[in-house]
Amino acid sequence: MEEFLQDLNESQQQAVLYNEGPSLVIAGAGSGKTRVLTYKIAFLLESGYAPYNILALTFTNKAAREMKERIASIVGGPTAARLWMGTFHSIFSRILRVNADRLGFTSDFTIYDTSDSRSLLKSIIKEKDLDDKIYKPASVQAIISNAKNALITPQAYQVNKDLVESDERAKRPLIKDIYQTYWNRCQKAGVMDFDDLLLYTNILFRDHPDVLERYRQIFRFILVDEYQDTNFAQHLIIHQLSKGHNHICVVGDDAQSIYSFRGANISNILNLKSDYPGCKTFKLERNYRSTQNIVRAANSLIDKNKEQIRKQVYSENAVGNKIDVLSAYSDFEEGYMVANRVSEMKRLSKYAYNDFVILYRTNAQSRIFEEALRKKNIPYRIYGGLSFYQRKEIKDVIAYFRLAINPHDEEAIKRVINYPARGIGDTTLGKIIECGIHNDVSLWQVIATPLEYTLPVNNGTLNKIQKFKELIEEFIDANNKMNAMDIAELIIRRSGIFTEIYANRSPENLSRQENLQELMNGIQEFCSLRQEEGVEEIALTDFLAEISLATDQDEKEDDDSDKVTMMTIHASKGLEFKNVFVVGLEEDLFPAALSKNSERELEEERRLLYVAITRAEENCALSYAATRYRNGQPTAMPPSRFLKDIDPTYLNMPSELKSKQNVEDSIYSFSSRSLGMYSSSRSSFFKREEPVLPSKKQDLPLKSYSPRLKRLDAVNTSSVSGGSVSITGLDVGARIRHDRFGSGIVTEISGEGDNRKIGVEFEQVGKKQLLLKFAKFTII
Ligand code: ATP
Ligand code: MG
Repeated sequence: MEEFLQDLNESQQQAVLYNEGPSLVIAGAGSGKTRVLTYKIAFLLESGYAPYNILALTFTNKAAREMKERIASIVGGPTAARLWMGTFHSIFSRILRVNADRLGFTSDFTIYDTSDSRSLLKSIIKEKDLDDKIYKPASVQAIISNAKNALITPQAYQVNKDLVESDERAKRPLIKDIYQTYWNRCQKAGVMDFDDLLLYTNILFRDHPDVLERYRQIFRFILVDEYQDTNFAQHLIIHQLSKGHNHICVVGDDAQSIYSFRGANISNILNLKSDYPGCKTFKLERNYRSTQNIVRAANSLIDKNKEQIRKQVYSENAVGNKIDVLSAYSDFEEGYMVANRVSEMKRLSKYAYNDFVILYRTNAQSRIFEEALRKKNIPYRIYGGLSFYQRKEIKDVIAYFRLAINPHDEEAIKRVINYPARGIGDTTLGKIIECGIHNDVSLWQVIATPLEYTLPVNNGTLNKIQKFKELIEEFIDANNKMNAMDIAELIIRRSGIFTEIYANRSPENLSRQENLQELMNGIQEFCSLRQEEGVEEIALTDFLAEISLATDQDEKEDDDSDKVTMMTIHASKGLEFKNVFVVGLEEDLFPAALSKNSERELEEERRLLYVAITRAEENCALSYAATRYRNGQPTAMPPSRFLKDIDPTYLNMPSELKSKQNVEDSIYSFSSRSLGMYSSSRSSFFKREEPVLPSKKQDLPLKSYSPRLKRLDAVNTSSVSGGSVSITGLDVGARIRHDRFGSGIVTEISGEGDNRKIGVEFEQVGKKQLLLKFAKFTII
């Protein structure tokens, strides 16, 4: 047996060595599924498979990179570089480019990201004079995306009774028309959206058996990581390609299926046996990642899900610390609490910042943690959110890049036809769009030959359009002759973007300049990497193809510097960190409000928490805040029901939860405690009271009602005695709890009348001066 297989335990080795037919490795988090897949690829290479005969699909580009590096260390870089390894989107877009003509596209098709698709849908909804409150672009986008992932084309949609009736019931009967228009517009513009990459691959294989056969010959062995999150379109591609030889190995964990909102279907993994008769299942039970306490806590949580394949997962690592449950008074305090803990743990245990991750349910939560980390000078990096390529100045430049490659790209035209300003306003753009629709041609065709399509604009405007056309033609021409670096620079200068962004050194412009510079660095780096691989001339098209597929799980580039990581739980799949903070464990946030309508969705939220906890190697903390700003309003947040799903043996509960009989009781005391206390102005202070009133008012502990009264007392009955300020119930040394900053000790009282202030040393946030007139706190 190859020596490198010694790095695996016996069950892992068996899974690697098995090569008699299809196989499935189904196992809990951290049990080495990804490791098995990686070693299996190395093993196949060592046993004579050529790298270009192996297709390995991962969920993120980062995962593919890491796997490739590991394989390179076993079999050598050049061999590893020739593997077909990447995400579904990146691999199949390559295949689509080669075969684009079969589908009526050219190999230069450009790709719409989610915001491009949304923007096109918005235009279509507007053009059709539909109410965007009924036809909400985000919902329409989700419906179309789901249809595509279920391989339902617009034509199929029109005749699908279930879908049509469901739209009619929802009073949105015209979705089918929007879908058809959207489809036609993308075709006219020579673009594909993310879902199209999978849908068109399926169409390609369905309608062109010779192409399918060719790829069947190429991909002699197929491996897929995170199989639980594949959707129907992905499942079918794999099934088509592996039919015949059945050399396929997939790994996954049903307990970590968290993408059903994108059409992922657990049943893909559950039904694998019927899709691949004779499929052999391997189970891995030993978790190598986490301490015993973390594994047991995670097991006890996921045990509450009904729909699952029961598995044993155990750890032989140290017992480790219990999971800390951190209770914060407000979202703000939660930020500081976590930041403080990071510095404390780093100081006491010599961790690096890289050893910490903060995981949240929604991107919006990151702001508060950013603020707290920044204040404490803790370096951090954020995955996802507004990723680099989503920044305005970068999207603008990239729109020009796209036009240099595919001038028909509608969203790219809309973006830059008047940026930088060249006097082609919205009215003219509206006419160009209308003219395109009327003549059934792309916007570019109208721009290139406006007279032919009798575009109704005056000569001055015609001139401006002509100039824009010449500019784009210059880029197209340059793109055929120049390499990526040179054309990028030409575009940035000639488009006028350079002048615009370098006009002055305002802080906004400086940050734009940095981003632009960073983009150029990215192109440079991409070119040198390719050159190392032996490609001499690197075209802009190659660079664009690469970045168009950066997903929200990917960073712009690998950043090895020592920083705390922040990301959504979704993006953390497959990763591991020594210390994990899972934040915002509150009802209506985690679980998300909408998920509470159905047991199925609740189970998905529970799996999401399982994924989060199982990222931790050594320490895990779960935090929640009693109040949180939501939609500009302070809102009372009861602790998440999931906290009581975890066996308390493995938890360090805060005293307030411990003293309750169960979390449910405390849900009421929490919401009441923060009742109406937390707001920026008096008027909304009163407005808030009603909606958050708990229904079990009579059960409330007295304490939870008293704070507001006490606070008003404190302000109104203050008195001055003997030069030192004393306020009834409030002296130096008193403990208070502030709505936002949490608890602290009053260290000084000063000032007169409206200027009366207190100095407070807060436990988490440090020292603060508060103007008594406005301060919202209670004496405790
Ligand atoms: P997830 O479900 O989170 O994707 P996974 O099942 O893919 O997890 P891996 O990421 O492959 O698990 O492995 C988890 C950790 O355990 C990694 O750090 C890996 O290197 C380590 N590991 C796995 N198997 C072994 C082994 N046999 N000996 C030592 N370490 C191992
Ligand atoms: Mg994995």
